[in-house]
Order: sequence, then C-alpha cells, then structure tokens
Amino acid sequence: MKYRTVLLFGAPGSGKGTQGKILGTIPGLFHFACGDAFRNLRITDPLGKLFIEYSSKGALVPDEPTIDLWRRNIEGSTLNHNFDPAHDVLILDGIPRNARQAEILRDTLDVRAVFRLTCTDMTKMVERLQRRALRENRLDDANLDIIRQRLETYELETKPVLDFYGPKIVHHVDSTQTPLNVLRSILDKIAQLDVNV
Ligand code: ADP
Repeated sequence: MKYRTVLLFGAPGSGKGTQGKILGTIPGLFHFACGDAFRNLRITDPLGKLFIEYSSKGALVPDEPTIDLWRRNIEGSTLNHNFDPAHDVLILDGIPRNARQAEILRDTLDVRAVFRLTCTDMTKMVERLQRRALRENRLDDANLDIIRQRLETYELETKPVLDFYGPKIVHHVDSTQTPLNVLRSILDKIAQLDVNV
C-alpha cells in the first residue's frame, strides 16, 4: 500500500516548518520533517555526523542514508501507533528533496498535492532564518554564506522535484502572507482532496 501524501515544498525560510508543525496537530494528518529527524540524531550516530558534515556546507545529505532514515522513522511511528497509514495522510516537509529521492519513493508515496510556498521577499526569508538560528540554535541558519549555498542547492537540486510531480497537483501559496492566511490556503485545498480528513 502506498502512503497518501501531501508535500510541503519551498526554499529554506519559506515557512514550511511552521505550517508543517500546525498541520501535524490536526487529527488524520501526520507530519514528518526530514531536517528534524536529522537534528534528533545523536552526534555519536554515524548518520548524525554525516548530517553535520553536509548541512554545515549547505549541501544535501546523500540519498540512501536519507531515505533509510525516513523509512525507519515512518515505520517506527506506524508501530507505535502515532501514524496509521490506512487512515492518515502523510505531510512531508523536506523530502523528497531532489529528483532521485522522488524516483526512489515513487512506489512508496501516493502524492496527492504539493504545496509550493513562495516568498518573493528575500530579505524576509533571510531574516526568518537568522531569527530561527538564535531560537533553535541552528548553525546552518546563522551564517550568510551557508544560507546562500542552501538557496542555491534548492534552486539546482530541489526545484526539479516539482517537474517530477507535474503542474496538475502543484498548488502555489504566497508565503509572504501571514502564517494564518498561509494555513488557510493550504487547509482549503486539503479539504478539497478526496482523502477523508
Ligand atoms: P531548510 O529547509 O530550512 O533548509 P531543513 O531542516 O529541511 O532546513 O534541512 C536542513 C538540512 O538537512 C539540509 O540543508 C540538508 O543538509 C539536510 N536535509 C534535510 N532533508 C534532506 C533530504 N531529504 N535529503 C538530503 N538532505 C536533507
């Protein structure tokens, strides 16, 4: 059985994380943020080390260990009854993050909608990241060169994921709106999907 899935998509600082956390509190929706799963690893974990190595350069962690981490998390959440694949919709934030990951997950995910959050105000995005750097102690948000590199990685590697899923299921959301209005736009669309939430 494939997981019924909604993807949150957007550049670093576009507000996916904020929306994902709220959506994950709604019964019938299960939120997974790939960056959080990496940050929850212990520093002594070899994958935790690999994550620091790549994320501190603004680069993506290699695909195989990333997909393995995702599977372990989803299967763990299913076993401990936090996620019920038969009824819940998976809200994915930060995965798949390149075309190859989308290809690897082709037989696992039934992607019903992709929400592309776009923030045209670059200053606002960088400000959000720098505020988060302090609040969440994220080194990759603190340094402007790393932020620039992450934005470039997004343009070059992540954006092609949109072509993989095609324009019919991609919904554009202006994330310069307030978080409440961004949420409202996303919820309106999710309510229209035939997913019984
Ligand atoms: P943001 O979207 O703000 O850049 P995330 O928390 O989603 O932040 O990701 C932080 C870092 O974690 C990324 O820069 C990357 O190094 C790594 N990462 C997260 N998800 C993936 C993924 N699916 N594939 C590869 N690397 C990932």
